[in-house]
Amino acid sequence: MKKDRNYKIIAAIGLMLVTGMLTGCAKFFPMEKDEASETADSCSREIFAMDTVMTVTTYGDNAEEAVEAAEVEINRLDALFSVGNADSDIARLNADKSALVSGETCELISRSKELYKSTEGALNIAVYPLMEAWGFTSGEYRVPEEDELVALLNCMDVDEISLDNNSGEVKLPQQMGIDLGAIAKGYTSSRLMDIFTSYNITSAIVSLGGNVQTLGVKTDGSKWRVAIEDPFSEDGQEYAGILEIQDQAVITSGAYERYFEQDGKRYHHILDPATGYPAENGLASVTIVSEDGTLADALSTALFVMGKDKALAYWQEHAEDFEVILIEDSGEMTISEGLEDYFSSEKEFTVVRRNQG
Ligand code: AMP
Ligand code: MG
Repeated sequence: MKKDRNYKIIAAIGLMLVTGMLTGCAKFFPMEKDEASETADSCSREIFAMDTVMTVTTYGDNAEEAVEAAEVEINRLDALFSVGNADSDIARLNADKSALVSGETCELISRSKELYKSTEGALNIAVYPLMEAWGFTSGEYRVPEEDELVALLNCMDVDEISLDNNSGEVKLPQQMGIDLGAIAKGYTSSRLMDIFTSYNITSAIVSLGGNVQTLGVKTDGSKWRVAIEDPFSEDGQEYAGILEIQDQAVITSGAYERYFEQDGKRYHHILDPATGYPAENGLASVTIVSEDGTLADALSTALFVMGKDKALAYWQEHAEDFEVILIEDSGEMTISEGLEDYFSSEKEFTVVRRNQG
């Protein structure tokens, strides 16, 4: 049995509420009437890219042009980062171990190298050969032998990726391959916010396979309401809580998103670079809230690998940059202090506070 939830159904509830059943580009008919939004134009489009379903919605003048530009950008970045497209920067790099790549690819590899350091290797973009060994790249799932994993772990030192920001030349050691799957969607949603701003859009929300990023607030001045998926939901339709946000990304990593089962055991797609096996440390999902979509995506994956204690210690060190929601296999839910006033749930949760001094 396998599961490949192409679109993570962390539904952007705010998006659904404000757009109703609107698809395509049309005048915006809000469900709750208010002066400001009654006159606002909106444009919403579904796009399939990066192996997932994306929804892009903008409000105001230029709404349609901005969505058009967003679609072009999504397809452009997909063509650069995709491991499956032989012409992409990443596929060329993996095949030849040396390639001239675009500025965006350089930027993302460079950011990934920094985060590899700061997360002590939990975020490791050199995970590609390991993903291949488990069959996640082909769909031919298997549990690799222990010695096979040990050999692969020896080729994952991200510090060995050489990067020349001026020429755009990237070089990998012979056995290494890279995969930006943990970070590319967050980078893309961040780029979309820049594009919207360049079109003078002040209100927008995107969901890239459940990874949400917002610009400004809704046209009625209220915050966006984003649902956090319940990792134990059978059909992905239940949620663990609701976040109210503005100008932020909300990105979740979970074991339930993509996995296969063999001999009654479940193997998911977030691999622990310390063991070569799917990360197994008591966490069912990690949600990161940050103004920086790239960071949110990278850390949702990295903190999932770290487990609760290390994840919270990392948050203590970097609490200026992001907030976090951890849901454990036991169902226990923990949120960081900064979300206290913006998170609501019918379930119990614990709030962790920043250490003093
Ligand atoms: P996400 O859904 O953002 O947590 O990203 C998961 C994807 O990142 C996987 O499908 C792999 O492509 C890749 N990946 C898996 N484990 C890691 C890891 N430890 N570090 C970086 N990327 C990973
Ligand atoms: Mg991620």
